[in-house]
Amino acid sequence: MKVLITGGAGFIGHNLARYLLAQPEIDGVRVIDDLSTGNRANLDGIDVEFVEASILDYPALVEAARGTEAIVHLAAIPSVPRSVANPRASHDANATGTLNVLEAAREAGVGYVAVASSSSVYGSNPTLPKSEYAWTRPMSPYAVSKLATESYAIAYQFSYGLKTLAFRFFNVYGPGQVAGHAYAAVIPKFLDAALSDRPLEIQGDGTQSRDFTYVDTLCSVIHQAVVGQIASTDPVNLAFGTRTSLLELIELLESQLGRELPRVHTDPRVGDVKASQADSTRLRELFPDVVQVPLEEGTARTIAWFEEGSAR
Ligand code: NAD
Repeated sequence: MKVLITGGAGFIGHNLARYLLAQPEIDGVRVIDDLSTGNRANLDGIDVEFVEASILDYPALVEAARGTEAIVHLAAIPSVPRSVANPRASHDANATGTLNVLEAAREAGVGYVAVASSSSVYGSNPTLPKSEYAWTRPMSPYAVSKLATESYAIAYQFSYGLKTLAFRFFNVYGPGQVAGHAYAAVIPKFLDAALSDRPLEIQGDGTQSRDFTYVDTLCSVIHQAVVGQIASTDPVNLAFGTRTSLLELIELLESQLGRELPRVHTDPRVGDVKASQADSTRLRELFPDVVQVPLEEGTARTIAWFEEGSAR
C-alpha cells in the first residue's frame, strides 16, 4: 500500500517515512511538507516522493493524496509558545489544514486517515492519568487547534463514513529531533545544552512531569494502525502511562553522560501543563502487540545521535 505523510519532513514524519518503507506491506511513501519547521535534508537517503507544498494549498494536497490508500496527517505548527505568539497561524495550519486533509481524502478516494492530536487538549484537567473519556480544557491556541484536529477526524467517520483514528501524542522524542530553535522540545534542548557545556534551562521548578514516548515506538503503532486500517470514534492516547519529572530526566541524562549537568531555573512557560501521564488502556486494547522502548534505551539512542551530529 502507498501512504501519504503530511509534515513528513519533520521530526516524527521522517522517522515514520523511514520506518514505513522498511515494512513489507508498504509499497511507497509520499510526503507533502511546506518545510516551515521541517527540513528537506531529513529525507536524504529515504526513498520518498516529495511534494513541497502547504496543506493549505488545497489543489496540491488533493493531487498528493491521489493514488494513496492511507494518509498519516502530521503537518502542523507544533508548538504551544508559537501558538501563543501567533494564534491565527496555528489555527490555519492545524485546524483548517486538517479540514483540508480530510476533504482531500474524500475527493481523492483515500479510505483511511490517522491524525496527530496532542495531550495538550487535556489542559487544565488535573486528573492523572489522563483517560480519553476525561474532559478536555485547552490552555493554549495550539491545544484548541489540536482538539479541532481530532474532532474533525472523528466527525468525518460519522458524517462521511471515512475511517479515521485520532492519536493523542504525548512527549515524543528521539533521533532527528533538533534543538537550536526557541521552541525546541525538552529532551533535545537538554542534550544540546549538555553536549555544548551550557547549563540546562529548566522552566519552573522542574517537578513538572511528562509521559515520554520514543519515536520508533510511536512509528510501530502508526504502522499497525495504517496496515490494519484501525479506526475509532474516540481519540486514543499514544503513550504508555509513564510519568517522569524534568528533574528525574536530568538525573538519568547525568548518569548516561557520566557527569553532573549544571542547571538554571527560569519562569514557568505560559500555557504549559504541570503534569502529563496517559491512561494507556485504549492503546493497549487496540494495539496489544506493541512493545515500548524504555526511556533509558530511548535516551541512550538519542544521545548517540546527538554525539554523532556534534562529531560531524
Ligand atoms: P515538526 O515541526 O518536526 O513537524 C511538523 C512538520 O509539518 C514540519 O515538517 C513542517 O514543515 C510541516 N508543516 C507545518 N505546517 C505545514 C503546512 N501548512 N503544510 C505542510 N506542511 C506543514 O513536529 P513533530 O514533532 O514532528 O510533530 C508532528 C505532529 O505531531 C504535529 O502535528 C504535532 O502537533 C504532533 N505532536 C507532536 C508531539 C511531539 O512531542 N513531538 C506531541 C504532540 C503532538
